[in-house]
Amino acid sequence: MYGYSGKILHIDLNERKHWVEEKPEKWYKLYIGGVSMASRLCWENIEVGCDPYGPGNPICFANGIFSGTPVPVGGKYGLASKSPLTGFIGDSLSGSWFSVALKRARWDGVVIHGQSPNWIYIVIDDERVEFLPADKLLGLGTYETEEKIREIFGDDQLRSATIGPAGENMVRFANVTNDGRQAGRTGHGAVWASKKLKAVSVRGTYGVTVADPETLLKMSFDITEVAQGPYTEKYRLYGTSTNVLNANKHGFLPTRNFQEGTFEFAELVSGEYLDEHHKVKVIACAQCPIACEQMSIVKYGPYAGSMSGVEYESLQAVSSNCGISDMAAAIRMVEIADSCGMDTMSMGVSVSFAMECYEKGVLAKEDFKCKKYPEGFEANFGNGEAGVTLAEMIRDVEGIGALLAEGTRIASETLDKERNAETYKWSMNIKGLECPGYDARSLKTFAMGLAVGVRGGCHNRSAAYDPDIQGETNRFTVDETRGEVAARAEEYAAVYDTLPLCKFIRRCFTGKADRAGAWPSIAKLINATTGWNYDYDDVELIGVRAHTIKKAFNIREGWQPKDDDIPYRWKHEPMTKGVGAGHVVTDEELEYMKQLYYQAKGWTEDGMLPKQLLIDLGMEDVAEEVGV
Ligand code: SF4
Repeated sequence: MYGYSGKILHIDLNERKHWVEEKPEKWYKLYIGGVSMASRLCWENIEVGCDPYGPGNPICFANGIFSGTPVPVGGKYGLASKSPLTGFIGDSLSGSWFSVALKRARWDGVVIHGQSPNWIYIVIDDERVEFLPADKLLGLGTYETEEKIREIFGDDQLRSATIGPAGENMVRFANVTNDGRQAGRTGHGAVWASKKLKAVSVRGTYGVTVADPETLLKMSFDITEVAQGPYTEKYRLYGTSTNVLNANKHGFLPTRNFQEGTFEFAELVSGEYLDEHHKVKVIACAQCPIACEQMSIVKYGPYAGSMSGVEYESLQAVSSNCGISDMAAAIRMVEIADSCGMDTMSMGVSVSFAMECYEKGVLAKEDFKCKKYPEGFEANFGNGEAGVTLAEMIRDVEGIGALLAEGTRIASETLDKERNAETYKWSMNIKGLECPGYDARSLKTFAMGLAVGVRGGCHNRSAAYDPDIQGETNRFTVDETRGEVAARAEEYAAVYDTLPLCKFIRRCFTGKADRAGAWPSIAKLINATTGWNYDYDDVELIGVRAHTIKKAFNIREGWQPKDDDIPYRWKHEPMTKGVGAGHVVTDEELEYMKQLYYQAKGWTEDGMLPKQLLIDLGMEDVAEEVGV
């Protein structure tokens, strides 16, 4: 087989042993790599109905088809487990050198089973697997852990995926980090901690063999050249944080825990402000000619020296959504999250949830007692120091931070029970995953796209905000087209997440980001790598299968139609300012759009998967288990 080794590495933490599973080419043609293959490995290896923190929940890595080749932005891998935040599939992507090392070690995927009795880290050195005590690594941050492992082995090329203190403390939205990039959102770091696994390090020394190196090289050079031109200029010069002003103008910038969609201090937390006052350099993932990561530093004041790569989703979560206009505090909050390995988005929304609880009297000053402030502190919106301190308390599961570290769903349920409160009205999560940086009350297709999302409230998987923002749909109303629009948008995103290719390359094939512009080139890249004969329709099916295996996983874990929902606030509390003022997504509108969506997917009206549909996709064994 070209492009793949045909081998999955299985590791058992209880028995401290490993074995190799060989997969047929047909399996690769169905699941390709990235989030699709990682989710399929979860499907095959998980104990159905298991506790996400129990031994039956495996950690599943799946490499990218283009990792280790010259294909630009193709150095990525997928990571999947049952999410402790949602109880459904937790699938994430991360870029950079770890995936290249794994490819060079000739592993298409790695499945880690069981639980270790003591903290350990694993070193995969080509075909050799070593289990090592992690005592010297405990308490270290994510970057420090990578450095320490390199130092122990005296090898600068050793690549590691690690968890930081937030993971060790089982913050429910802890990340896995490699090369400064995050496999984020669904709590992988906490799953690793439940297995007492601090890091996985890889050294790979083999080459990567592809079917048609000449074509692959020529295409890669051509795409690289285009990727350094105008189509990616916005990302190269400013990164995604330029979206702040745009979101504010269009009235969907999350503000004060999604109470409003416009922030009066948006200029002060914009990408443009960041660029002028804080940017020090840009960095790139492996195999990337774009380099979108804008590293920003605080030059003076109480957070002087803090440095982080600040992207839109992180920035809005810790600034406008907490009412914070102090960019220095925002940079510090992102730095805390990245260095201790926790999700900036879920952290920011958990902080904003706590601030609203404080302003509405559910939490009082004394609820915020901590080592730094023994008497507690005022946790009002806009208080940057409160935001920074709460980030630290979540990381350390200290005081109220221990509750917030459970995510907004559990935190809200706990407070409502213990204090006879109604915080569920401002608990901004979908299936337990905190909402992304788009207030969906005036983005109605997107609201439904989020509701049906298989990993919860995720803009990366849904992508239905794009037609709403671009004006292809009327974002303030619903109509019979929305099911089709949302279904195709999520399948489009799933193609990129499966290869995986960074979506910022999408216009660099022909200038057009749509399927007609990208799929023929992607088919050629796949064929040059593997020697297959993929065409437009085959590329389309990559996204359909990726989404279907995740949906099947959720059904097997007990998904019900009522799980496809949006937060109370978006259904009942209209914003009062900006172009989105006065809008909500009613229950009737949501149900209507869900039905359209299930139809567009070819599912039953209860959102279940018909047997024949699964058989037609080549997923006969899945049809046996969950098909109706
Ligand atoms: S564009 Fe940004 S996120 Fe995408 S691969 Fe490059 S550096 Fe990574």
